[in-house]
Amino acid sequence: MNNKVYFTPGPSELYPTVPQHMQEAMQQKIGSISHRSKQFQEIYASAVTGLRTLLQLPDNYEVLFVASATEVWERAIQNNVRKESFHLVNGSFSKRFYETAQELGRKAQQHEVPFGQGFHVENIEIPESAELIALIQNETSSGACIPVEQIHRFKEKAAPDALIYVDAVSSLPYPAFDFSKVDSVYFSVQKCFGLPAGLGVWLVNERCVAKAEAILAEGHSIGSYHMLPSLLEKAQANQTVETPNVLNIYLLSKVLEDMNSKSIETIRRETDSKAAQIYTYLESSNIFSPAVENPDHRSKTTIVANSTMPASEVNKHLAAFDMQVGSGYGKYKESQIRIANFPAHSEVQVVQLLTKLAELES
Ligand SMILES: *Cc1c(COP(=O)(O)O)cnc(C)c1O
Repeated sequence: MNNKVYFTPGPSELYPTVPQHMQEAMQQKIGSISHRSKQFQEIYASAVTGLRTLLQLPDNYEVLFVASATEVWERAIQNNVRKESFHLVNGSFSKRFYETAQELGRKAQQHEVPFGQGFHVENIEIPESAELIALIQNETSSGACIPVEQIHRFKEKAAPDALIYVDAVSSLPYPAFDFSKVDSVYFSVQKCFGLPAGLGVWLVNERCVAKAEAILAEGHSIGSYHMLPSLLEKAQANQTVETPNVLNIYLLSKVLEDMNSKSIETIRRETDSKAAQIYTYLESSNIFSPAVENPDHRSKTTIVANSTMPASEVNKHLAAFDMQVGSGYGKYKESQIRIANFPAHSEVQVVQLLTKLAELES
């Protein structure tokens, strides 16, 4: 039996209702039903409706299921970029999207700031020729975020035809996007949705679809089974091209029901309140300090702290109390800790974590 509470930034703690939904899924033999059955179409439709409600997603957006957020990077470039993309880079995940564009033979340009820093929108020059602008709401490797109001400013800065893509993998459903100011938002379920890994969700508006159709009509490749027109055709029938992760789509539909009955306002309020408690503790600690200097650029959902105690020692102490935080990312493995503040983490659990971290101070 593993009683540990995972404050790791993904995979993370499962949403508290997942075990009961998993049990129900086994009783209903969800793992055996056909992905062409009416039962699956209903599960699919329920997941899409739940997501539309939770995110207040307008009708000109489609909800598409893919394997992961990493897959979205590749599909976004294939389907929406003829020649050139532009990336805001401030850590490992935003860098990886930029590299994906290069690996697919596109001319990718970046506006890079040091690890742990956010962006100042007014200092960013977007090339006129950039067809896709890649923004990262929450850079999970460093704990830096772009506040939603700043994300909304890119629409007026970019060329009218440019598509604004937002990586919200480790923040949705927390950020309240105005979807008329962006064109695509994507996430994978093992972060803030508290589900097992293995499902990516790609939200696209009609401009993304039209661009893919135009590139295809010009005779260029936009990929194969997961090109936007194929994804869309099946999505409109509440189906997927391939045999999908039916179990996870089912679990997502159930967790969305739970999140909607709790309400997005409550989830956002609780996220703010837990984040405030965590940052207040970090500011007062002798061992930890917030890694992102500018308070406006500090993530509410993936909180990163510099640590004078090696992260492995911190986790050794926490393990005795059935808790674990994330170690730092890459070369910061031992010198930073990362604390996930997701909807699955209750206020009581956060208080327990902070109490145990405080014991290290003495
Ligand atoms: C985890 C993460 C990804 C990659 O998600 P996968 O599900 O592993 O493909 C991309 N971007 C950010 C910001 C992430 O935190």
